[in-house]
Amino acid sequence: MTIALALFSGGLDSILACRVVASQGIRVIAVQCVSPFFGYELLAQETSYREKMRQQYGIEVMLCDVSEPYLTMLRQPPHGYGKNFNPCIDCKILLMRTAREMMAAYGAELLISGEVLGQRPMSQRLDTLRIIERDSGCEGLLVRPLCAKGLSPTKAELEGLIDREQLLGFRGRGRQPQMELAARFGITDYPSPAGGCVLTDPLLAQRIASFYAEHDPVTVADIRLLLVGRHFRLPHGGWLAMGRREAENERLLGCVLPTDWEIVLVDRPGPTGVLRFAEQPEDFALAAGLVARYGKKGEEGPTARRVLFARGEETRELSALPLAEPTYESWRR
Ligand code: SF4
Repeated sequence: MTIALALFSGGLDSILACRVVASQGIRVIAVQCVSPFFGYELLAQETSYREKMRQQYGIEVMLCDVSEPYLTMLRQPPHGYGKNFNPCIDCKILLMRTAREMMAAYGAELLISGEVLGQRPMSQRLDTLRIIERDSGCEGLLVRPLCAKGLSPTKAELEGLIDREQLLGFRGRGRQPQMELAARFGITDYPSPAGGCVLTDPLLAQRIASFYAEHDPVTVADIRLLLVGRHFRLPHGGWLAMGRREAENERLLGCVLPTDWEIVLVDRPGPTGVLRFAEQPEDFALAAGLVARYGKKGEEGPTARRVLFARGEETRELSALPLAEPTYESWRR
């Protein structure tokens, strides 16, 4: 039986690409790459996620963690960034190269992806698709079942591994053909297009870019922290994250490294803070002032608050007045 590896995003197009190829009697193994920028939470629920994909869409999915090469590539993507900090072309190159390198281990003879020509402004133009193929070492190897009829035949089509006649010629941004195809496969509940990648979120992208500008290396733990709550880059190099609500306080606690300081107010409710890279006493004092600022206000007006810093067994307490707004505006990230 012919085996195909599919580059799988979990979106409708990749689901359909798998199903179109599987309908030719080809066994499709879907590879879903994850990084802290997209899909990372799936790693913690891999078994149930795979089961859900199997039951809901009839697709065999496996997760592949590409965090390390991704974090490095993001610093200087050869093809640049999109509108935000999204390196879409190099992202696709990295994911395709990863899948190509896995083919031999699975005995796969072809590689497929769910791209549709002209659907996204930058990464799905014909010239860009060619660059992605070339730079990932997938020239002639990658079949795009949803738009294959608008592209030159691939090696797999020429060799008869897959029947080109049964592939499709979708083009452009419209979703109607995909929805009709989904209905034919009996697929009714599917994720909406876009979303899922934090690098296209203007605020998060800006924060991540600003963090990259000052830190090397950047780690998975750093990105996980950057995605929760409000953030401040303190004047002496410290980085402070604070929860905006209870759920974020909880999530932040899951991001604490042994070298970080956890911060809470001693005698009133307030945000949980996580302080990373702080070395100078000034940053501790300012972090205390910020946590005090976002804590619950009392009847007594702006009096000094007790702020507790904890790192493992180590604790220190500072007394701080809530910082006044203009002081910290430029530290926001
Ligand atoms: S939106 Fe994000 S996941 Fe999608 S191609 Fe661009 S960088 Fe990659």
